[in-house]
Amino acid sequence: MQTSPDIPTESLPGAGAQGWLSGWVSVRVSTPLVALLLMLAAAQGSAQTPPEPPTIPASTVVSTVAMVLEPVAEGTWFVQGASAMGSAANQNFISNAGFVVADGGVLVVDALGSPPLARQLLALIRQVTPLPVRFVVVTHCHADHIYGLQVFRDAGAQIVGHAACRDYLASDAARQRLAISREQLFPWVDGQTRLVSPDLWLGDGGQDDDLLLRIGQREFRVRHAGPSHTAEDLVVHDARTGVLFAGDIVFRGRLPFVGQADSRRWITAIDRMQDLQPRVLVTGHGPLSHQPAQDMQQTRDYLAYLRQTMGEAARKLEPFDEAYARTDWSRFAQLPLFAAANRMNAYNTYLLMEHEAP
Ligand SMILES: [Zn+2]
Repeated sequence: MQTSPDIPTESLPGAGAQGWLSGWVSVRVSTPLVALLLMLAAAQGSAQTPPEPPTIPASTVVSTVAMVLEPVAEGTWFVQGASAMGSAANQNFISNAGFVVADGGVLVVDALGSPPLARQLLALIRQVTPLPVRFVVVTHCHADHIYGLQVFRDAGAQIVGHAACRDYLASDAARQRLAISREQLFPWVDGQTRLVSPDLWLGDGGQDDDLLLRIGQREFRVRHAGPSHTAEDLVVHDARTGVLFAGDIVFRGRLPFVGQADSRRWITAIDRMQDLQPRVLVTGHGPLSHQPAQDMQQTRDYLAYLRQTMGEAARKLEPFDEAYARTDWSRFAQLPLFAAANRMNAYNTYLLMEHEAP
């Protein structure tokens, strides 16, 4: 068990000691009011004893999205974000989060895309159980899965991630991304939103293999599934219920976003997940999967087809445009987001296969 060095949040604009003060931006205290308060304090003879600092919540912003608890299995629930890009309009509720109530505590998987969303999720957890949240496992460090972490940390939970996630959170890239999000997703992500580094991690001096999280009599297996969708992908398996929290390794009912992913290892990760024979899949986006084998296979087939077709083109030094145009995409063309994502997925795979080619 290791404790990570804290990210120097003091260097983040709006964070730290002055951060909570910025929460008062909407409260205008006029000078006469301050004078009146001082006079009242003096009249009560309490001017000599400094008053207790006010207890201010980390932020006063309250999310207003429709967030509904959906049962997954015994003691297990999840909430489903919108199938969209993150925006101030959807309050960045575009990803899923789940939780399991065990004997003596709660395990949460992913923290949603803002502190207000995380508070809303915590309130829903409180409707189910008064037990404390012991752990929050971060499946990967994309903004829509991590910006709510501070709420759970403040509530006493330990954050579990991969070393690659920890390293990313300490990077300029993560700070720059947060700065942009504070503008684009304001007020849901604001000056008080901070990056929260894992307390426990897998890889690089942390746990080498699978990490077993124990809560009471329950054991949850946290497994590194990356680098695949990202370097730091983690999945969480609950052997008792057969639920697998798969993060963004599996895209259900839509075309995957490949991005800069390592698709060869992504396929290996899916095969390892198939070996677990899960009964139910909670994915990072989209509805529950009650047919995990089929849904995992669909993502796998798509990645394999991209690699086969674009790999062949790269080996033959065929220009990408020609290769893309002559490839038969009919197997996947009916999937949602095909028009938005397929060409970019194919192009990224073409570049990847150029490097992989001997
Ligand atoms: Zn995601």
